[in-house]
Amino acid sequence: MRVKPFTESIESENEPDYEVALKSWQNHLKRNQSIIVDLFHGQFKSQITCPTCSRVSITFDPFNSVSLPIPVKKEKEIDFFFIHANNEKKAVKLAITYPKANHFVKDLKKEVARRLKKNPDNFHFVFSTYHAKEVIDKEETTLTNEIRKKKRFKNLFAFEIPQEDLQADPNDKVNIDIHPTKKGTSYYNSDIHKPLSFIRTVTMLKSYTVRQIYVKIFKYFRFIFNENWPEEEKESFVALSDEEAFDKVWTNAEKKPFLIHFVTTYSMADNCEFCGEKRCGNCVLNYDETTTLADLLSKIKDPTYHLEFEVVFDQVPDFVNLDSLNGFTDLTKRKASEEDTKSQESSNVTIEDCFEQFELPEQLGEENAWYCSKCKEHQKATKKMEIYKAPPILVLHFKRFKSGTSFYKKGKITQKVDFPIDDFDISRFVINKELPTDYNVEKIIPNFDPEPTIAEASTQDDSAATQNHNTMNVEDETPETKNGEMNVESSSGAANPDSLQYSLFAVVNHYGNMGFGHYTAYAKNHVQDSWHYFDDSRVTNENAESVCTPAAYVLFYKRKDWKFKI
Ligand SMILES: [Zn+2]
Ligand SMILES: [Zn+2]
Repeated sequence: MRVKPFTESIESENEPDYEVALKSWQNHLKRNQSIIVDLFHGQFKSQITCPTCSRVSITFDPFNSVSLPIPVKKEKEIDFFFIHANNEKKAVKLAITYPKANHFVKDLKKEVARRLKKNPDNFHFVFSTYHAKEVIDKEETTLTNEIRKKKRFKNLFAFEIPQEDLQADPNDKVNIDIHPTKKGTSYYNSDIHKPLSFIRTVTMLKSYTVRQIYVKIFKYFRFIFNENWPEEEKESFVALSDEEAFDKVWTNAEKKPFLIHFVTTYSMADNCEFCGEKRCGNCVLNYDETTTLADLLSKIKDPTYHLEFEVVFDQVPDFVNLDSLNGFTDLTKRKASEEDTKSQESSNVTIEDCFEQFELPEQLGEENAWYCSKCKEHQKATKKMEIYKAPPILVLHFKRFKSGTSFYKKGKITQKVDFPIDDFDISRFVINKELPTDYNVEKIIPNFDPEPTIAEASTQDDSAATQNHNTMNVEDETPETKNGEMNVESSSGAANPDSLQYSLFAVVNHYGNMGFGHYTAYAKNHVQDSWHYFDDSRVTNENAESVCTPAAYVLFYKRKDWKFKI
């Protein structure tokens, strides 16, 4: 046993990275010298920025493994019904995938418009149930993800506005909510109106007569008559104008298939403003050809009351199936089968995604705040980590266990991460492609004593020890450099100096969860070039392709251009 010397951590003071990294590595070697360091230790470059004074602290810290975060898929899906202005076209159910952050209703509309070839200005999103309705305005600032969360309890619709309503004079327009219901009998045998479908909005003009109101409502629901009309007469009925068809099924019919009622239950007035009765319970809008909508509106004294209509389907012809009111074409199902394989592929996370996530600057929290020597205070600084030098044996660990404070935040990420078996080029994630053992120490610092404080290692083979931490550069001799010049480019004789290739030779798997679990391993036999699976006392042969599973927890990679020799 030896006493390890005290070393102070080295912080860059505007010196070149290579010099600071070298000094930090020497510091590391003063306290740690072993085959473990030579094989497994690399160097991080960590950069901490103070949010208050902008002081930047750069350090080069040794590591023996890299913990990679697994990025969570940041895409969500929202589905809804698109109701065409022309009701003859069946409503469609659509599902749209969108990025969770910074995606607004206006963006959603653009996507819908693109898919259905519609004008985004001609429809709007509405939450509607059988009992309530809420128009989504503020399309610029409402997040798509917000309405997706709300949607759990409601139905979401995109209502296309008919051209004639868009063009109508805004001063003459009145939007009226329509509640479709049907007459039914309650348990106690009294007549009740059962909601039949979700609330829609129909645009009327103040100048409309009650007849025109009836025709407009008929026009809106005409599709259920068209659809169900007996085959022999269907063609001629469909060819009729709305007025003619209305006269046929309503004006000239003995049994009126529907009646419009005022919704009076929301009014605060003591007596009904339309029929004068107390609690009239949605009295009927009597059909005539002279009273106008303006006349009806003038009767309303309660300023908080908005006119709404209940459309009660009662004596509909037998052939009319009221269920077709809610019919739609489900595009989400078709989409699911068509894009199944595609979406599966794109949802896979790769190890490159993990490295990218690892390199993202992170803001430190309260609990691991950083002490800024300039501010003399703990700060929630921004920290950025990069790999400065990677070791010959690179150990990668997936952060599968979430350490949250609440029950929901804890747990294991079971996402499969794709990783290469051979030819894993990590060059874009490593700043300096030399091995940590490749620092040209003697040439930078004259008279450098490789073992200034640590006495002879227990091993008898001191030549090996010296070689190890100094020039374990392996394939060839360290390339020649001029005296005093730093040789940053010497990358162990790699064929392509821009690439940095590693190959996998072992995987540790974890099954189970936080509390309990089971570990197994895959490992490669270099002599036979074969993979094996180790599960307790059982060892089986394995294909290289099958070692990448969602259970993968720790990966062992070997630098390809490095030949191990001691
Ligand atoms: Zn009334
Ligand atoms: Zn500061």
